Parts: sequence; structure tokens; C-alpha cells
Amino acid sequence: MQPLAYRSVSDERHALDALRDSGARCLAGGTTIVDLMKLHVERPATLVDINGLPLDRVEALPDGGVRVGALVRNSDMANHDLIRTRYPFLSRAILAGASGQIRNMATTAGNLMQRTRCYYFRDTAAACNKRDPGAGCAAMDGYNRIHAVLGTSDRCIATHPSDMCVPLAALDAVVRVRTSSGERTISFADFHLLPGDRPDHEHALAPGELVTAVDIPPLAFARRSVYLKVRDRASYAFALASAAVALDLDAGRVRGARVALGGVATKPWRAREAEAALAGRAADGDAWRAAADAALAQAAPRRHNAFKIELAKRTLVRALALAAGDAS
Ligand code: SF4
Repeated sequence: MQPLAYRSVSDERHALDALRDSGARCLAGGTTIVDLMKLHVERPATLVDINGLPLDRVEALPDGGVRVGALVRNSDMANHDLIRTRYPFLSRAILAGASGQIRNMATTAGNLMQRTRCYYFRDTAAACNKRDPGAGCAAMDGYNRIHAVLGTSDRCIATHPSDMCVPLAALDAVVRVRTSSGERTISFADFHLLPGDRPDHEHALAPGELVTAVDIPPLAFARRSVYLKVRDRASYAFALASAAVALDLDAGRVRGARVALGGVATKPWRAREAEAALAGRAADGDAWRAAADAALAQAAPRRHNAFKIELAKRTLVRALALAAGDAS
């Protein structure tokens, strides 16, 4: 048996004090960490229960954006008027994830920090560089149907599992972080790290730092946005491929676009190549296909997941068509 300390905190200063201990981890909704503790994948020395912190508000920002507190439950965020009206694809992405019960517990920061669903990561009998740096990667030549084709390295091909993070990547969200010396912000593009040589380094938080909120900038054309998720069954399944798109159309042409992909990459994947391929083009099927080809041009499949490349392209083509108002 491994000893486990539990500390409940009600303000940020005490939270930072508690998180300074090595082996301390935050407990919010518990929908990832408790599972992984049962599997002996996570073995924290201390759980710092942060549910008492006043970080559960969704509020409009003066610039037209929205601030979402770190402890806002996924259900509350998805159903909030500010999210539903200003960023409909974000609301739909959240509602496409997990189950109603899990969304009622899971939090904004927890969603950002959730860990991969790679089967080998969750099986302590398997080699896994993310769980045990230097141990090898059982997925590389194993059964890798659910694994990533973008952003991979020769150490890790695990897929980032979040739906919510896909539109947040498209929206250029900003993560607000409390540190021992004050506050700092991390752009969403820099928050999640590529696996590279150290797949165990998953995010840009330093030890002891605390996520307090996510700021979503204003984006008027996000009102014309779509999140489309393809999975093995209709609910309670992770994406094989997903696409978050927002289109700014003017007289039948694409004036601007935001595109991000989920289910196919090692982090929430902003597809800037797709955005560039769309810019200025007539809003039609040729443009959608060009964007999809550009988004997946660097894809590197393994034995069992090559199907994801065409699946992701079709998912993106369909999402773009829907965002443009073509429901055929
Ligand atoms: Fe571990 Fe990554 Fe390999 Fe999965 S893909 S076994 S998480 S190193």
C-alpha cells in the first residue's frame, strides 16, 4: 500500500503552498486522476482538493471575450449562454465528450490536463515512455488503431483525448496560471507539448503552478462554427477524428477560417495549413478538399491507423460544408 495524504484548500495561497510538495497533484472533478490511481498509473503522494477555490464562474470580458474559471464543470460551460451563443462549436464539442455524469463532474482545467487513453499507458505491464521515461513504446509496433498520425515522435504516438480543447485551439484561447510570484498566461498553442524525446512532459505548467481560468478571445465569425466528431459508437467514446471549424464568409468566398483537429494528433491540433488553403477561395467543395489535404499532408501513419488520414479529411470536409450552410 502507498500512503496518500489529502489536503483540502479554500484559497489560492494555500493551494500553491500545498502544491509545492513534490508528488502533490490537484484533485478537482477526479474523473481522470482517480481512475489512473486505481490503475497505479498515477501515484501522487498528496492530493490537493481545490474544489473549494472560487474558480467556478463564466464571465464576459470587456473586449467581447469570455473567461471560464478552472473549476467550471464541463456541463455548466457547455450550457452557458455566453458559450452557446458566441462559440457554438465549443459548446457542441464539450457535449460530444464523455457522458452526462462525467461532464457534471469534470472541470475546465481538468479537461486541459487529462491524459491519453492509449491502452499501453494505462497498463502498467506494458512499456510506455510517457509513464516510465526510457522504457520504450508498446504502441509503436503494437495495436495502434486509436493512435495519432500528426505530431508524433519515435518515442510516443499517443492521441490527445479532449474534445473541448479542439475548438479552444481554434479560438487561440489563453490559459491563466497562478504562480508563487504572481500570475502568468500561456497561449493555448504552447500549453500542450509535442511528445518529442520526453512524452512524459505533457504541458507547459511548471511544478506547483495552478491553472485558474481560460480566456477565450472574441471571434465574431465563431457564431458560424461546427464541431464534428467521428467515433466507433454514437456516445461515450473518444474521437477517431474530429474537426472544429469556424468560417468567415463574404459573398461566397472565405474571408477567414479557423480549423483544428482532434483524435488524430498528440495535442489539440491547430491546422493553420488548412486555414491558409481556404483563405480567399470560393466556398465550395474544392476548397474544403484542398484544406483537408493541407491539414493532413504531414500525417505519419503506423500499421493500424492509416485509415485515420482519410477519415480526418472527410470529417473536415463535412464540417466545413456544414459551417458554410451546405447540409446536403
Ligand atoms: Fe506510452 Fe505514448 Fe507509447 Fe502509448 S504511445 S505506449 S502513451 S509512449
